[in-house]
Amino acid sequence: MRAVILAAAAGVLAACAGSVTTAASAGPAPQEAQVATPATPVVDDARVVFPASVQQGALVIGKVPAASRVRHAGRDLRVTGYGSVAFGVARDQSGPVHVEVTSRDGRARTIEIEVTPRDWPIERVNGVPGKTVKPPPAIAARIAREQAAVSAARTRDDARTGFAQHFVRPVEGRISGRFGNQRIYNGTPGAAHSGMDIAAPNGTPVKAPASGVVTFADDLYLTGGTILLDHGHGVSSNFLHLSRMDVRVGDVVEQGQVIGAVGATGRATGPHLHWGMNWFDVRVDPLLVLERQ
Ligand SMILES: [Zn+2]
Repeated sequence: MRAVILAAAAGVLAACAGSVTTAASAGPAPQEAQVATPATPVVDDARVVFPASVQQGALVIGKVPAASRVRHAGRDLRVTGYGSVAFGVARDQSGPVHVEVTSRDGRARTIEIEVTPRDWPIERVNGVPGKTVKPPPAIAARIAREQAAVSAARTRDDARTGFAQHFVRPVEGRISGRFGNQRIYNGTPGAAHSGMDIAAPNGTPVKAPASGVVTFADDLYLTGGTILLDHGHGVSSNFLHLSRMDVRVGDVVEQGQVIGAVGATGRATGPHLHWGMNWFDVRVDPLLVLERQ
């Protein structure tokens, strides 16, 4: 896959741990709720609908007859009363993915979905505090504990259906960092960027992009003020570097409700919102979720 080298312009854009030159801003998304209307549907029968192809990092929403059994990646997918299901396609997924649908009458079929590869630019991020790039052992242990707690919150398979809403941006602003880009912090290769960064002033209210329940809210070493929101069916959002958290674990929030405020806490060089999304432990691209029609 072709790699694009981008020079980070320090101090121009606030990103996670630095500044990034990829920037493009889409307009606000329409707000009507929708369930499953993929652009190029495969209609296996009138009531089984999945997209024919998706991009790496996509959150896939499909439709099956209610009360079907649906399996993907070794899991039984929870099915809503309207027959909606969701699963994520990993950033590095190559080749097609499969979904097995068994309807109530016992008829089984396998849906194949092509996965379109993407280019992942390399971002060189400089000016990050050294202790956050190569933490000392005591701090590394703390980071591991905190990451385990966040991972545990992502194992829930909740029946709520916020995942099927049309997601809205949690904050308006320029996109200062994109999902999946390979990051090099102060010259040291780090993990791919796990979400999207939106540049916004410190204190800007952060709104829930879809309804959900708060499953984590704490101040962490790397990610600062951190909130996880479970949208149901394994789909969750995380909001990082917050200067303020207005919700607690167990709070149920509606789409558009303010949950906290933009900050620069944790490994960040300037105020911005990092918004990540997961299907269980599979990270997906929030921008693709916003653009889903
Ligand atoms: Zn980020």
